[in-house]
Amino acid sequence: MSNQSTSATNKNTNLKPEDFFKNVISHSKEYGFIFPSSEIYDGLSAVYDYGQLGAELKKNIREYWWKAMVQMHENIVGIDAAIFMHPTTWKASGHVDAFNDPLIDNKDSKKRYRADVLIEDAVAKIEDKINKEVEKASKRFENFDATMFKSTNARVLEYQKKIDEVNERFKNAMNANNLEEVKQIIVDLEIVCPISGSRNWTDVRQFNLMFSTSIGSVSDEANTIYLRPETAQGIFVNYLNVQKTGRMKIPFGIAQTGKAFRNEIVARQFIFRMREFEQMEMQFFVKPGTEMEWYEYWKKARLNWHLSLGLGSDKYRYHDHIKLAHYANAACDIEHQFPFGFKELEGIHSRTDFDLKQHQEYSGKKLQYFDPELNESYVPYVVETSVGLDRLFLSILSSALIEEPLEGGDSRTVLNLPAALAPYKAAIFPLVKKDGLPELAESIMTTLKFDFMLAYDEKDTVGKRYRRQDAIGTPFCITVDHQSLEDNTVTVRDRVTMKQERIAISQLHQFLTERTTIQSLLRSL
Ligand code: ATP
Repeated sequence: MSNQSTSATNKNTNLKPEDFFKNVISHSKEYGFIFPSSEIYDGLSAVYDYGQLGAELKKNIREYWWKAMVQMHENIVGIDAAIFMHPTTWKASGHVDAFNDPLIDNKDSKKRYRADVLIEDAVAKIEDKINKEVEKASKRFENFDATMFKSTNARVLEYQKKIDEVNERFKNAMNANNLEEVKQIIVDLEIVCPISGSRNWTDVRQFNLMFSTSIGSVSDEANTIYLRPETAQGIFVNYLNVQKTGRMKIPFGIAQTGKAFRNEIVARQFIFRMREFEQMEMQFFVKPGTEMEWYEYWKKARLNWHLSLGLGSDKYRYHDHIKLAHYANAACDIEHQFPFGFKELEGIHSRTDFDLKQHQEYSGKKLQYFDPELNESYVPYVVETSVGLDRLFLSILSSALIEEPLEGGDSRTVLNLPAALAPYKAAIFPLVKKDGLPELAESIMTTLKFDFMLAYDEKDTVGKRYRRQDAIGTPFCITVDHQSLEDNTVTVRDRVTMKQERIAISQLHQFLTERTTIQSLLRSL
């Protein structure tokens, strides 16, 4: 989106982040993007339903991801594995024993928190202090060199030392599963509960995030199965099936999108952290020893994919992990600036041969690759890209929602979605409900609807209809007026510029194809 409104013309940037976030949530509900689950029964915590427009936007995001990963790479194929898997899968993957979050309660507010998140937030606050020092100094000195300043300024060095110390202590404590030390870090950092303001904390405990249920009619322990907490394992257990039947040669990838379930301790922040959510994951199988190359490759490729949405390059950053998961030898997050700060959007992990080796051991089946060039077999290494579809949805929706000032003091609410992702590609309006205009509008609709999702609206003034489409992100409004009856042209109004141009009806298909299809986004990659 080249001509998207900048934040300088966005009145939302003047709002407090929490107020803007409230706007995002109410906008989502008001226009049919997202509803609380089973709302007539007062909802279910951290579970949400996608409404008529949300389902379209979500489908388009998923399609863009799928096409970018699968269709654009001859060596990546997609699968659709079941949510239920043999329970041993989760023993092998380590989830039964180690898919835990450290939780801590505040005794006064009775609120529960993830201990690691409390510590990360405290570290982020110290980072903010560094950024403020840098900002202050950059205003004071000409030819300001931020790197030099950070490496010499006493106060910044002090803050940085503290961050390094906390990170190191936290990493060691987690690696040793030393929960007393985790609590001690919280005490030493003087972290207070945001609700009660007190430091009256319980001990830190581990909590397994998997949901379990039973399969078949007898409910005993032998029948316990889990709702998958990630889609990745469905890929690993099918590695050999796909490699053999698809005659895949390393390096190659297997992608899939699908539901995952986690009994999150702190399930706040709308669709950012849900108990039922959707992941889009790709496991890339590589020759051992080449994984770092591929890790760097996918780090870049995935950031580019996010940048191609045109929502602002300043909204993304990398965050390299200090505490690596049990399976990884390198890991980073692509973080996005959500209304509540920079948070993980996507994870890129170099998972080594951990998963395939574990499944090999637990199943007794060889999960290897015969490399014809080396004339030997090995267990491939894996680089994973893993993004949450719902989180991506939130990142796009919240970056696109703009309150734009207009001349005369008025303003308009506009959802500056990338055109290819918008629920409707165009809205068709007859100027008035008579003189044969609705009939012509409907006939245009009939020819275009095979290829484009379209809205039709004949109520209220055209100005009000434009506003309604602006608020749901429709990139183009096509108006059929009296001139259309004479020369077969219509006006097409651009959501971003609000400019109108006259276009021949016969050209509409090509006009929309060039501007609103997923292909147009893929070409920008
Ligand atoms: P977090 O640290 O935020 O809990 P994670 O590191 O556990 O996330 P991964 O296991 O790497 O997340 O999952 C990959 C992606 O799945 C995340 O980057 C995120 O986009 C998404 N995701 C994970 N948990 C949730 C959730 N509860 N709700 C929505 N999306 C999620």
